[in-house]
Amino acid sequence: MLTLEVEKEYYQALLDRKAEYEGVFFAGVKTTGVFCRPTCPARKPKFENCEFFETAEQALLASFRPCRRCRPLSHPDHVSEVVRTLVDAVEKEPEKRWKDEDLQAFSIDPSTARRQFKKRFGMTFVEYSRARRMGMAFKQIRSGHSVIDTQITTGYESSSGFRDAFSNIMGAPPGLQEECNVLKASWIDTKLGPMVAVADDQALYLLEFVQRRGLEREIELLRQKTKSAIIPGSTKILHSIEKELTDYFEGSLTAFKTPIHMLGSPFQQQVWNALREIPAGVTRSYAEVAASLEKPSAYRAVASANGANQLAIIIPCHRVINSNGELGGYGGGLPRKRWMIQHERKIRLITEN
Ligand SMILES: [Zn+2]
Repeated sequence: MLTLEVEKEYYQALLDRKAEYEGVFFAGVKTTGVFCRPTCPARKPKFENCEFFETAEQALLASFRPCRRCRPLSHPDHVSEVVRTLVDAVEKEPEKRWKDEDLQAFSIDPSTARRQFKKRFGMTFVEYSRARRMGMAFKQIRSGHSVIDTQITTGYESSSGFRDAFSNIMGAPPGLQEECNVLKASWIDTKLGPMVAVADDQALYLLEFVQRRGLEREIELLRQKTKSAIIPGSTKILHSIEKELTDYFEGSLTAFKTPIHMLGSPFQQQVWNALREIPAGVTRSYAEVAASLEKPSAYRAVASANGANQLAIIIPCHRVINSNGELGGYGGGLPRKRWMIQHERKIRLITEN
């Protein structure tokens, strides 16, 4: 059962149509019998008529049916004229890095586009096009096909926008670069939404929520630092982390054993190792982590190293909160941070008793 406090927070997120709560909860409406995504464009019910669920399955099991407007079980497709025009434009050139200035070509006012996209998708047009661009690359990761296979099956020429799009995001496919390393990327569906994992045969380099702010940049840095191409695929490391994540979300694992490779400055590595010392079910403040490194004045640097972590959950940056007890920041979104802290507290209570 969710606490009243959490329900009130979810209700506020429902009123505000907050996209970062997508996948964190679904809202059942007792008066109509439907359940919705947090970003549903429909008129919002009263608090007392809502029932909150952490999964769509729970909502279905409680006999709510999916809303026809926000389609909580699929991707939404009812859109306004402005949104439709721009969505179509993005579909024609999904690899393009769209900017607000591009709207002039369609005689669309940027603030109108912003408002309507926010309303429809909970994000701006630029954020939407970025998500689509990422989505294209991630689709290949999810399906695990080789880049070449995908080009053939989707009918793209080898010099097409598709290859460019994929290369922009994931690095040039092998064959185009001489002597480049290859990292494999896989898609992992979790209770808190999809994650992307990148590894070679020895270690895991990156594990992030797909919706994480700045993920695209993070992937770019990873392939620059490792001089690698990143292609969809699988390795024993990726199998291992997928299994461990399943166990983590089921509550039967808190200490990850999959080998990791931490790419960072010596100070960042120090901070990340300190984070790995924080037991599951426990939180520390940025100042406490700084003190444990005998650098008590460096708490801001600690916070920034914390934010630069590329191995979500495994390096538990979510266990670091503000000194006053507030959650602080989290690239993957605060609802996920809170969920993991609570999840780990529950596991700790169970294993202690
Ligand atoms: Zn709805």
